Amino acid sequence: MAQYDYDLFTIGAGSGGVRASRVAASHGAKVAIAEEHRVGGTCVIRGCVPKKLLVYGAQFAEDLKDARCFGWDVPDECNFDWQRLRDNVMKEVDRINSVYRETLTNHGAEIIDERAELVGPNEVKLASGRTVSAKHILIATGATPHVPDCPGHELGITSNEAFHLDAVPKRILIAGAGYIANEFAGIFHEFGAKVTLINRTDVILRQYDHQIRDRLLQISMMKGIDFRFHAEFRGIEKTENGCLNVSMTNHEDIEVDCVLFATGRVPNTGGLGLEAAGVEYDEKGAVRVDEWSKTNVPSIYAVGDVTNRMQLTPVAIREGQAFADTLFGDNPHQVDYENVPSAVFSHPPMAGVGMTESEAKETLGSVKIYQSDFRAMKNVLANRNERGLYKMICDGENGKIVGLHMIGPEAPEILQAAAIAVKAGLTKQAFDDTVALHPSMAEELVLMK
Ligand code: FAD
Repeated sequence: MAQYDYDLFTIGAGSGGVRASRVAASHGAKVAIAEEHRVGGTCVIRGCVPKKLLVYGAQFAEDLKDARCFGWDVPDECNFDWQRLRDNVMKEVDRINSVYRETLTNHGAEIIDERAELVGPNEVKLASGRTVSAKHILIATGATPHVPDCPGHELGITSNEAFHLDAVPKRILIAGAGYIANEFAGIFHEFGAKVTLINRTDVILRQYDHQIRDRLLQISMMKGIDFRFHAEFRGIEKTENGCLNVSMTNHEDIEVDCVLFATGRVPNTGGLGLEAAGVEYDEKGAVRVDEWSKTNVPSIYAVGDVTNRMQLTPVAIREGQAFADTLFGDNPHQVDYENVPSAVFSHPPMAGVGMTESEAKETLGSVKIYQSDFRAMKNVLANRNERGLYKMICDGENGKIVGLHMIGPEAPEILQAAAIAVKAGLTKQAFDDTVALHPSMAEELVLMK
């Protein structure tokens, strides 16, 4: 009789857990994966996918206006039906959820639709009370929105609920200045809401290059998004007319219809039984792992947001793949975290890879910066006074590109291709040697001064 019920038991069927389980099963392991909410995890159910579809929906607000300059008759008042978009987005989420379930099942991984908690180095307890054993356990429980502990915080929502609203709020206050806050600010603004974004400091998108994020701030303010800086939440109260009165430091109270907390995401380890299994975690609750995603308990591993390394879907997927190949596929490899591209799907979007200007200046002896500050052709004809900015950061010693950052239409699409060149260690000269593809926005990449 086998010593354990499974070779691998995965807790959490999100980006990392699904990839690890599917690959482990395809390598011949006996795999079970437990999910307490919906297979697909944050990215598919309440993250990247529904968010990007809302971003597409929001972009039509500008495109419809601009269309007039391109000869199209568009009525002054275009109706937008939030519920239709929301329901279509949810249909697509359901479709991807089914595809994920099928993929797991087709590869022989057993899906257990229950919450699971660790009870020992090789044991997991399910919500139904059943206990199962596994030779290896993978923690892939992701992260969860952090909500500040202020009076009335329960009156606010997080990104989890934003996808299910009955209507677009007329006035929304978004707390936070990271990518989720700025993306939802753009989405709700384009859908006609009066958006106020409040932040404890006066910096938005801290990890991004200062010129690129300043450009987004400038454009967002020009569009009518209201920013309140050095504002710390004091509390939320429901008023007699059913609205929300928000008080904060350094600013007057504001009345809104909805408060969205986008104040960071914390590793989802509460009540997971880490202590029972002897798994070490840090002060933020993130599971501590080595470069093989192994915890201090030899039978237990962790991948994805729960480890708080880089909270991005493609990173969680790579960690899951590397874990499964290493343990079950006789193909040991580790994830390379250098030059991972990322984007903010704001209006306009921004994207970057590698070091920012200030990081490069701190790290390298000498740095050379090249830029292109331009108005996209389409924006010129549409009388849209919005400029794109591309910025290349090179090692002054050898010309090697160490960072590439951009804001402008389609920036994430363009940056994904350019990130290959940065990852490959190309120099500015290689870009100079490449003939421009005209007329395009991407040609600015090879024309930077
Ligand atoms: P998750 O995908 O979060 O999966 C964890 C799963 O574990 C969940 O399904 C959860 O229900 C389940 N679970 C938790 N505890 C238990 C338990 N005890 N028992 C059973 N199941 C459990 N990343 C990008 O790369 N690009 C983007 O554009 C992007 N946009 C985002 C937008 C939003 C609004 C949010 C919130 C996130 C976004 N992300 C984006 C981040 C991305 O979604 C995460 O990095 C990614 O989903 C992490 O994958 P994971 O496998 O670690 O965890």
